[in-house]
Amino acid sequence: MERVFLSSPHMSGNEQKYIQEAFDLNWIAPLGNNVDGFEKELSNYNSISHTAVLSSGTAAIHLALKLLGVEQGDTVFCSTLTFVATVNPVLYEKGTPVFIDSEPDTWNMSPDALKRAFVDAEQAGKLPKAVLVVNLYGQSAKMDEILAICDEYNVPVIEDAAESLGSEYKGQKSGTFGKFGIYSFNGNKIITTSGGGALVSNDEQAISKARFLSTQARDPALHYQHSEVGFNYRMSNIVAGIGRGQLEVLDERVAQKRAVFNRYYDAFKDITAFNFQPELEETKSNRWLTALTIDSKLTNVTPIEIIEALAEGNIEARPVWKPMHLQPLFEGSTYYSHEEGNSISDQLFENGLCLPSGSNMSVEDQDRVISIINTLLKK
Ligand SMILES: *Cc1c(COP(=O)(O)O)cnc(C)c1O
Repeated sequence: MERVFLSSPHMSGNEQKYIQEAFDLNWIAPLGNNVDGFEKELSNYNSISHTAVLSSGTAAIHLALKLLGVEQGDTVFCSTLTFVATVNPVLYEKGTPVFIDSEPDTWNMSPDALKRAFVDAEQAGKLPKAVLVVNLYGQSAKMDEILAICDEYNVPVIEDAAESLGSEYKGQKSGTFGKFGIYSFNGNKIITTSGGGALVSNDEQAISKARFLSTQARDPALHYQHSEVGFNYRMSNIVAGIGRGQLEVLDERVAQKRAVFNRYYDAFKDITAFNFQPELEETKSNRWLTALTIDSKLTNVTPIEIIEALAEGNIEARPVWKPMHLQPLFEGSTYYSHEEGNSISDQLFENGLCLPSGSNMSVEDQDRVISIINTLLKK
């Protein structure tokens, strides 16, 4: 049996055309028409003014923090339920992350926990430099509530939309709500350039500063002159060519991911122990990964058993991200749970499961997944 991955690259067939163009022009690196084109096309797709394409989503988060002036001693409020790449750049700048729990309606940052964190921060006379909000598995966080709180304290938002490119919140594209948004084109994301990322904003100066910082911060001089620390974070013209070919089929990929979700949903909708990640009203998730929780009071089957049974069939499935406040790396960090004594992300981690959700997964492969799970449930 061929391996079924959680979410594998899915090429459109048009990527080669853009790469060939770069070869024909001998514009292999660093910049060129594909970089410019990909930036314009991404801006258009997301209806945002400015986009800088970079070597990774992590690099985009790092530059956003840099542009907001995060430095040693500063705090940054971060969603706890995420991949570590959201938070690592805070450590690069020697900032201190403060972790905010999820709420049950979207699995994303709890406005209640965020509010309590702000009240405490204000009392202590030290507001965070930024709030880093994640849109988990494609589902937007409660942006209205979160932005209202951040506006009240005048603290900028960075939206980590690495998993939610193509998703919408009240008709607006995910990733365009904060001062900065970031996307990832890593191999497992909804579209991929093999590796890459983007930083977006409506602030033209900030994005042009990001391009400057991402190309070693060269001052305008014939000789090489530098006044501040730079990075080698720019996307190459070849990689951007892959991105252009992928962006053409993004909406198709969203439809395919949602179809995968719907097939799982239809197969398991009568299993009362299974609760799929909700899609908040007036939002559209790209359903990057189909995620669910399993209520241990209603079934003896655990997420780990399912993951192991699928692995025996050469199928990849995963638990939900382990929250950052539970990671050894962040031991001793400050954490605000959704309610006092009620941590939602702990429960999502304990009971959560991500099913293989590739946009290129065949119906037969998905039927295999469903039948392995059904066999376990009937035991
Ligand atoms: C993938 C991912 C990132 C990092 O993106 P890279 O391009 O791999 O650096 C950041 N945040 C989240 C939530 C992710 O899933």
